[in-house]
Amino acid sequence: MRVLLVEDERRLAHLVKRVLEEEGHQVEVAHNGQDGLSLGLGGEFDVIILDILLPGIDGVEVCRALRKEKVDTPILMLTALDSVEDKVRGLDAGADDYLPKPFAFEELLARLRALSRRRVEPRDPYYLQVGDLVLDLKRRRARRGKREIDLSPREFALLEVLMRNAGRVLTRSQILDRVWGYDFAPDSNVVDVYIAYLRRKVDKGHSKALIHTIRGYGYMISE
Ligand code: CA
Repeated sequence: MRVLLVEDERRLAHLVKRVLEEEGHQVEVAHNGQDGLSLGLGGEFDVIILDILLPGIDGVEVCRALRKEKVDTPILMLTALDSVEDKVRGLDAGADDYLPKPFAFEELLARLRALSRRRVEPRDPYYLQVGDLVLDLKRRRARRGKREIDLSPREFALLEVLMRNAGRVLTRSQILDRVWGYDFAPDSNVVDVYIAYLRRKVDKGHSKALIHTIRGYGYMISE
């Protein structure tokens, strides 16, 4: 894998680079946000490891700028600030995953493997599937097992966004942005209301729930 590592602590950057290279990856290092952004915009990486606290432009800003320029390289955020707000800021900016510092290298490697797998997964353009829940994008139909699920257009759009990001936590504002596409008041509970509608249709009566609330972050669909 080609990895871009944006980390201003030189000793840590050196160490991570060495560990990744020992695993057979090619690593390019940037020591500040501006350099990280320029390299990231080149787009020739399989994954970007991005520290949040950086001199100049911080990691969240770098991430936001990359996504704005349509760079879809998976981004793993590193954060010393192990607070909910920080993680949410990172995820809102378009990061795919985060890892609090200090971390074990095994965990870093495992997260990178997961991110790269997620990216190369071949996708059938017309069907999304999570467990026994199947969304037929062409016919705009949903079913769980053999049971057809009747969804309103908005419910369908919400389920589609969740399923396209299966296994990933989406924050309320990410969901608002992708499903409603315009700004609600930040305290709007429209996402929670629609999640409740979906739960009733998708999960009710099944022993295994697929829609999960991740307290303090948002929602996720997974087996
Ligand atoms: Ca730092």
